[in-house]
Amino acid sequence: MKLGVSVFRLLMVPVLAINVATSQAPRVSSTPAPPTAHEVKLLHITVLSTMLADRGIGEWGFAALVEVDGRRLLFDTGDRPETVLQNAHELGIDLSNVTDVVLSHHHADHTGGLLTLRRELGKINRTALSRIHVAPGVFLSRRRTGSDQEANPMIELKTLAEASGGVFIEHAGPTELLPGVWLTGPVPRRHPERNWPAGVSIVTAAGLVPDTLLEDMSLVINTEKGLVVVTGCAHAGVVNIVEYARDIVGRRPAYAVVGGLHLFASTDETLAWTAQRLRAAGLAYLLGAHCTGIEAVFRIRELAGLNRRSAVVAAVGSSFESVRGIDPLALAQ
Ligand SMILES: [Zn+2]
Ligand SMILES: [Zn+2]
Repeated sequence: MKLGVSVFRLLMVPVLAINVATSQAPRVSSTPAPPTAHEVKLLHITVLSTMLADRGIGEWGFAALVEVDGRRLLFDTGDRPETVLQNAHELGIDLSNVTDVVLSHHHADHTGGLLTLRRELGKINRTALSRIHVAPGVFLSRRRTGSDQEANPMIELKTLAEASGGVFIEHAGPTELLPGVWLTGPVPRRHPERNWPAGVSIVTAAGLVPDTLLEDMSLVINTEKGLVVVTGCAHAGVVNIVEYARDIVGRRPAYAVVGGLHLFASTDETLAWTAQRLRAAGLAYLLGAHCTGIEAVFRIRELAGLNRRSAVVAAVGSSFESVRGIDPLALAQ
């Protein structure tokens, strides 16, 4: 059975078992692995979906390819069905050997590309993006205020992705996916950052309750320079995420944050508080993609003591590398 191709050390055996047993019940991984001090040697993150684009297509969405010591995974899949597929093609990036994809949360601007990617990459490699990592809550039924239509695209997407042979793996707690590469699982909301869209509720037996995106999770990579945190929308709050990352992986500097921070509508006070907290955590690089906000990137740059090389608005194809830092491409340099 070729499906277990070596990549995800800790999850390989349970995933194989699930493929045999059932494709309906998601694997729930609730036991954190004991922390290792493993440091990743070379980390390269390439943005494949975000608003700004020097090359390819810009959109309201997020996706990034994460390459760690020769292993690769996709973090989120963009909004429109074709964006990540086309952007990867234009950037000369082959995603067909990427077997694992993380969906940071249920929003369509992070999950919209999955089925197209599965279908097209599956023509080359049947196991491409076949292991789909999510956190509990991602499949809960939702309603927008004033509508009785299902507002969670993940419910239909789950059915279709499983029909195509995909397997969802739920992470109820922190998991070390690869040596030195962690998924946070749901992030405790220590600080009331409250940066999620209003007007959406979760359907429960007791009625509608506000959707606080409890499933929102991030990726944390332990490099020799410190922790690199990859966020989708950071609906759990970037400070909550960074502080939790340091709880999970170790009290090391939060060296870099790459991804969407959902700060575009934040007040000056919130941005100042956020920048001060990130500075205290040791932030040296910010590649602010997607819903971070242009002004928010500039404010954090100023207030966290960064500069035009170390705090940049992400563009499609821009990248962060653990040794060389950010390559912003042309427009955002
Ligand atoms: Zn988003
Ligand atoms: Zn979102």
